[in-house]
Amino acid sequence: MSMIEKKAILIGCGISGPVMALFLKRIGIETIIYEAQTQYRDDVGAFLGISPNGLNVLKELMPLENILTDFTPGKMAFFNGKNKNIGEIDNANQTELYGAETVQLKRGLLNKAIREVAIANGINIELGKKLTSITQTEKTATVFFNDGTSATADFIIGCDGIHSTTRKLLFPNGPKPVYTGLLSTGGLTKLANVQNLYGSIRMIFGERAFFAYAVSNLGDVWWFNNISREKEPSRNELTAMELNHLKNTLLALHKNDPEPITDIIKSANKVEIYPVYDIPFLEKWHRGRVCLIGDSAHATAPHIGQGASLALEDTIVLAKCIRDLPSLEAAFAKFQALRQDRVKKIVREARKVGNNKRAPNKFQQFFRDLLLPFFVKMEAKKMDWVYSYKVDWNEKII
Ligand SMILES: Cc1cc2nc3c(=O)[nH]c(=O)nc-3n(C[C@H](O)[C@H](O)[C@H](O)COP(=O)(O)OP(=O)(O)OC[C@H]3O[C@@H](n4cnc5c(N)ncnc54)[C@H](O)[C@@H]3O)c2cc1C
Repeated sequence: MSMIEKKAILIGCGISGPVMALFLKRIGIETIIYEAQTQYRDDVGAFLGISPNGLNVLKELMPLENILTDFTPGKMAFFNGKNKNIGEIDNANQTELYGAETVQLKRGLLNKAIREVAIANGINIELGKKLTSITQTEKTATVFFNDGTSATADFIIGCDGIHSTTRKLLFPNGPKPVYTGLLSTGGLTKLANVQNLYGSIRMIFGERAFFAYAVSNLGDVWWFNNISREKEPSRNELTAMELNHLKNTLLALHKNDPEPITDIIKSANKVEIYPVYDIPFLEKWHRGRVCLIGDSAHATAPHIGQGASLALEDTIVLAKCIRDLPSLEAAFAKFQALRQDRVKKIVREARKVGNNKRAPNKFQQFFRDLLLPFFVKMEAKKMDWVYSYKVDWNEKII
């Protein structure tokens, strides 16, 4: 390592923050993570997909058994609204091809497992520290928090997610997350006699909305739906929405779709609802001694399950750049150069898949159902370049 920087501040203790800290520790950089939440809320959020490209990063730091306690397999089976099986993305050979197999994990449990490895390795995490501003000098960077405190280090990494304050502070006039015209709802529930459905996520292009569900290794049902809605809803509108109203809306949308969709909706005790955003393109991911990673740099819609995996890929690549390049500026620039084309392509791809989930009219529906089998087959083939991405820690970056 040729750099003199020895101390970093990480903003955000979500998925990428603790992993970034662990890789920096490996290269002799001391980190402290500042998280806005005042306590860990491992029950918040539903679930997310992690594919081999993300799992291979985690494998560098912990046995995958740590996170495979409560999961659904990632194999996907697609159906049209008439319950006709129109294709599959089978992951059976992923372990052989890529060294790991796609899974869906509860976001909170994943966050907890990663965080515990970081804590066990001596990483400091401070809660209740909401970033409000940043200043930089030639040799240092300082963060200020909403509780009036501040901290200084050699550099800062923004790991603070899609609505990143770090990004807004670096690029006040830069692009903001864009609403994609879809709402996502979902949750976890219990239903009798579903064991025979274990093994794949069932993705149904229903008559009026998209619905997906899977049975977990513990026998629970994990589900989500996508609803087209042109106008972006306000946060207040979504938080004020009552469970029964939401369930009735979902039941109406899926009334002609195959079972057990309506049983799943009826059985839900809690439904998460959020607008789907992405960040089409952020020109620069760093300024001076501050760099963005994960959703703060390049949020993607969740439709091809790559948000968490891309954030994990970023951590190992950035750590290697810092390890191997002679200055922070060179490291941050190289990091962006190595990552940008790949993430741009994935953000675009996820948008395209999301657009296929919008409610079609009868005419569009006819052609959609006709074309979907080809589309699904193509998607399966197209994912190889996404899953096969593997970073060799020992390979030097030049
Ligand atoms: C509570 C929560 C629930 C989620 N649920 C889901 C889900 O169900 N499905 C799904 O696909 N994705 C979900 N996500 C998003 C998913 O975790 C990310 O898309 C992905 O893992 C990329 O991770 P990241 O590290 O870039 O950001 P994130 O994992 O989003 O982490 C960002 C962290 O930064 C913290 N933070 C934000 N602003 C500040 C600030 N000003 N100062 C200090 N800290 C700050 C946040 O509290 C959070 O802990 C959720 C994110 C959060 C925060």
